[in-house]
Amino acid sequence: MLDLSYTAPEPKVIAGAKHDWELVIGLEIHAQVASKAKLFSGASTQFGAEPNSNVSFVDAAMPGMLPVINEFCVAQAVRTGLGLKAQINLMSAFDRKNYFYPDLPQGYQISQLYHPIVGEGEVLVNMGPGVARKVRIERIHLEQDAGKSIHDMDPNMSFVDLNRTGVALMEIVSRPDIRGPEEAAAYVAKIRQILRYLGTCDGNMQNGNLRADVNVSVCRPGDYEKYQETQDFGHLGTRCEIKNMNSMRFIQQAIEHEARRQIAILEDGGAVVQETRLYDPDKGETRSMRSKEEAHDYRYFPDPDLLPLEIEQAWVDDIAAGLPELPDEKRARFVLEFGLTEYDASVLTAEAENAAYFEAVAEGRDGKLAANWVINELFGRLKKEEHDITESPVSPAQLGGILDLISKGDISGKIAKDLFEIVYTTGGDPAQIVEERGMKQVTDTGAIEAAVDKVIADNPAQVEKARQNPKLAGWFVGQVMKATGGKANPKAVNEIVAKKLG
Ligand code: ADP
Ligand code: MG
Repeated sequence: MLDLSYTAPEPKVIAGAKHDWELVIGLEIHAQVASKAKLFSGASTQFGAEPNSNVSFVDAAMPGMLPVINEFCVAQAVRTGLGLKAQINLMSAFDRKNYFYPDLPQGYQISQLYHPIVGEGEVLVNMGPGVARKVRIERIHLEQDAGKSIHDMDPNMSFVDLNRTGVALMEIVSRPDIRGPEEAAAYVAKIRQILRYLGTCDGNMQNGNLRADVNVSVCRPGDYEKYQETQDFGHLGTRCEIKNMNSMRFIQQAIEHEARRQIAILEDGGAVVQETRLYDPDKGETRSMRSKEEAHDYRYFPDPDLLPLEIEQAWVDDIAAGLPELPDEKRARFVLEFGLTEYDASVLTAEAENAAYFEAVAEGRDGKLAANWVINELFGRLKKEEHDITESPVSPAQLGGILDLISKGDISGKIAKDLFEIVYTTGGDPAQIVEERGMKQVTDTGAIEAAVDKVIADNPAQVEKARQNPKLAGWFVGQVMKATGGKANPKAVNEIVAKKLG
């Protein structure tokens, strides 16, 4: 049986000047759908293309152009919903969210307010071995991204790049179930991991492919439990929304800062104003961007250019049948099947490619030994050169070959590390390298005995001392290892030295 049980972490408590406060956080994650074409046009989504080269007439909002839904993007949203164990809505619809922005040529964004494609789901946020928080997903909707205004190319002019205009985004909205800065970062990491497993978003945060709006409020201990019982937001404090965060570190810093700012206001007898804020990492503070708009400010209405989106259960079932094994299940299986610790299993399942590599090495071998070698030697070595597993010069078959030589007793752990380095830098078949370079461990006790005899004969004074003080036997073991080029079986050397010294 896979064991997915866990205990919930304590919420983060911040001591104010007057009393304690708890944090309440809800996230809206914008994840760019991994798709070659945009949500309503055939234009390319390629990152880093020449400005304004990936813009169709639809994206540029030329008069009379009509949006056409991209079925692949819809499938990606459904796949994501299934991966987050969420309700898939067979009927959803697109709405216009009206606002003016120079990088939004339509004058509105096509989004899904009233009928999102994905409803309620949940995700387990891991905070350490056996410790996790369940965070509820409220909804996922599909929407268009906006373009990009460029203000730093000319002192007097601003430019606009519409390449990103109309690219499909999934907005993943959580319930306010996150209770601390570390949890918020871990939640983003978990969503990112699941999306990468699913292949629905590449999760490149630096390129802005995954970014989060972070809603923060504070309340007194006990109030959150009342909210949980009643689902009445009246028990929670007023929230502020910190926009467009694309770094785990800054998310944590911004939450810390924002919580302290709100606590100072409240303890001073003031009231938090609901608003949108920006985090300035250089100053380490959030500042007001605009007061919070409500849905009615956007004059949402159903987009008359698009029919309601109806999908069939059979199509959803097909997508469900093609889902890969997801991180929680994989981690639990690794613990069960290979006898790994939770920690090692979570390191190995961080990325699907890492997990696949490990499984190929561990197949038919000692799982713990395989885990040690993959994590400590291989990952360590790859990290040194900032390579990921897909760039590994050592294949699973080669690493497996090294492990087989260790298990058979052909090479010691120390020689295995030398061998790994040779395979890493020059390639080749491990067994053949060991043969050619004479790296085989000497287990022949006769040969070891001869080496021990020689060291004893050459060092009568040391022998005398060692007979008084048995701890000095280690010196002889070291000499024998040196004399055999590290190839003698250390266990056999220890035994023979002890015996000969009497
Ligand atoms: P909007 O679209 O106006 O930003 P939503 O109702 O969709 O508003 O909520 C946005 C996010 O704010 C959700 O992730 C929700 O969980 C979170 N949220 C709502 N109330 C609070 C609160 N009191 N404290 C922290 N987060 C909250
Ligand atoms: Mg919001």
